[in-house]
Amino acid sequence: MDEAASVPAPTNDLPERVVAAMRQHGSPSYPRAFEVWYAHLSGEMPAVSMAMNAIIAGSEGKVDAADIDSLYERFISSERFSRQAERTSLQVLGEIDAMMALVDKALGSSELYHGRLAAMSEDVPPTTDRLKLREWVEALVMSTREEVVRKAQLEAELRNSANEIRNLREALESTRAEALTDPLTGLANRRHFEEMLQKSIDQATLRREPFALVMADIDFFKRFNDAHGHLTGDQVLRLVARTMKDKFKEKAVISRFGGEEFAIILPEADLIAGKFGAETVRQALLTRELIKRSTNENLGRITISLGVASYRRGDTAGSLVDRADQALMQAKRDGRNRTVTEDGLETTSRVA
Ligand code: GH3
Ligand code: MG
Ligand code: MG
Repeated sequence: MDEAASVPAPTNDLPERVVAAMRQHGSPSYPRAFEVWYAHLSGEMPAVSMAMNAIIAGSEGKVDAADIDSLYERFISSERFSRQAERTSLQVLGEIDAMMALVDKALGSSELYHGRLAAMSEDVPPTTDRLKLREWVEALVMSTREEVVRKAQLEAELRNSANEIRNLREALESTRAEALTDPLTGLANRRHFEEMLQKSIDQATLRREPFALVMADIDFFKRFNDAHGHLTGDQVLRLVARTMKDKFKEKAVISRFGGEEFAIILPEADLIAGKFGAETVRQALLTRELIKRSTNENLGRITISLGVASYRRGDTAGSLVDRADQALMQAKRDGRNRTVTEDGLETTSRVA
């Protein structure tokens, strides 16, 4: 057997291989797609390679935007965060160790100084012996001067160390913020949504406050992408995100649940208030005509369908999302561009 066959291909032509593979598999070519293909072909992330091979095997070789987005969400965005966070946390810990050592040093040196003072005070020469007295005062001045210099040095070192810790903490915070944010829309990402939903459930259970969950999905978005391109589609996702941010109060948690689906937690809202919020966004979008900037072409309007559920005692995150999702699917079945609440769902299924 040819030994060379088991040696991995040289990696310096990786960019070319990435481009060739993207072309071969009909992949979209926005930046995230490059990252995903790069992770796959470089072999750096075996989990990505396994998942990508499974997609290729199951789809006659085609890899579309939804595949790319789901690989990115599942493997790359979280992996990038944990690597960055780990590095920054280690730096913070290192700095804190250095600072503690400085504090120890400061305490040690001042103990030494106080010890020396105590010894000297036990040894005060008689006031009649002027020479001895003078030596004693000089020794006192010397050790005090040394102490002052040492203190100043330690203070400067401590100040540097504190600055360094502050910088690292800011870096850690911005890494955390990045890890909780969807890069395309700036909304909360799925991970943040899940954390906040659990928090809302815990609070609602404790305080008996209601809250509502709205799930929204863009109508016929695949058709829109096919007609106008994925990048224009991305602009639509941003527009929907902006409209939601405009319409909801600050306390609402607006998130990109995945792909072209959004999930919104509305604190203190019952089902009726939830429906009102959902309708406000739906109607706001109806008034927005989409104009393609580069060509001034009018792309018409996009619509969304929404499902609303409100927290019930005993709900888990899964059960609540499930009801809102059922309502959303009912809105799709009823013809899209509408809001359905979970009570509407019950009526529908009873009639059916
Ligand atoms: P429906 O009204 O039933 O929701 O139809 P749909 O076409 O919107 O639903 P489907 O789930 O079949 O398609 C969702 C599409 O959303 C497919 C995918 O290309 C697109 N999509 C998902 N994420 C992104 C993204 O980040 N950017 C762009 N431009 N499109 C995306
Ligand atoms: Mg969808
Ligand atoms: Mg859709």
